[in-house]
Formats: sequence, structure tokens, C-alpha cells
Amino acid sequence: MRVCTICSSSRRDRVDSELAGGESPAVVGRRYRLSPDALRRHKTNHLSPALVKVAVERYGAETARNAFDSVVDRVESLVVRLEGLLSLAEEKKALTGGSNVAREIRQSLELIARLRGELDDRPSVTTVNVLATAEFAAAVTAILSATERYPEARIAIADALDEIDALPVGGPS
Ligand SMILES: [Zn+2]
Repeated sequence: MRVCTICSSSRRDRVDSELAGGESPAVVGRRYRLSPDALRRHKTNHLSPALVKVAVERYGAETARNAFDSVVDRVESLVVRLEGLLSLAEEKKALTGGSNVAREIRQSLELIARLRGELDDRPSVTTVNVLATAEFAAAVTAILSATERYPEARIAIADALDEIDALPVGGPS
């Protein structure tokens, strides 16, 4: 396993607090002469959520907001790169790879929407129009054919159904 050069750095505390405060790995890297890539990995894998929370309290919501925006920006640029990969997979007719990339894209877009609060995760109530279901049409047909030998009942039922506009299209007239 790769050793994290940031974790083992003597400047870890300062680096962590700046990263948690929303400073970009590129800027922190220049400031402390550390690799931006290593900082990025460290930020993703080793920066504790508790520290981020402390940073929000210390530096205020605006900095946290900037950090948040940069997350959205990064996911967006990830999507652009994934889309490039998808075209490549399509060109090479790499179906499995392509569908994996497509899934990644979908998840990334979902993440962006969720981060922006555009996605409502609450369970939604699905309204089903019972009258439009195949089961209902079958039930009406069954009722009407069961009353075949009782013309008056049949007419009464058909009228009643007609009144509530429930006769399935193509049903008995
Ligand atoms: Zn680390």
C-alpha cells in the first residue's frame, strides 16, 4: 500500500486545517512544496469529516460554501471526462466498459443534483389510476360475461360503469 506523504509530513496539521477550510490542493501544494496530487488523495482519503466540521465553525459558512462549490465543480469536470471515456468506449465497441462508464456518469449527475438539493430523496407517493389498469379492464369483462344470461343485470351494470366513465376501451357495448 502506498504511504501518504501528507500524513507523514511534519506540516500535516496546518495542511489539514487549510484543506478543511476549503483551500485548494494546488494552492496548499505551492505554499508547502507538497505534491498537489498527494494532497488531493490525502484530502479525499484521510481528511476527517470532524475536522471539516470544525473548519466550518471556525472559518464560517462562506468558506465552507466555497469548498462545497469546488466539490460540485470537481464532480462536473469528472462528468466531462467520463463522457469522453464513454465516446471512446463506444468507438472501441467496448460494451462492458461503456456501460460501467455510463453508470458512473449517472451516479455523478445524481450526486451533483443531490449536492445542489435538486433531488428530493423523500419517498414519493405514486398515484395509480386503477381504472386504467389491465386488471380493472379484465374485471369489467369478467363481470359482464358472468352476467350474460341476465340481460337486465348486464345492462344495469354496463350503464352504471358507463356513468363513472369506467368502461375500458374496446369493452362490451
Ligand atoms: Zn494522508
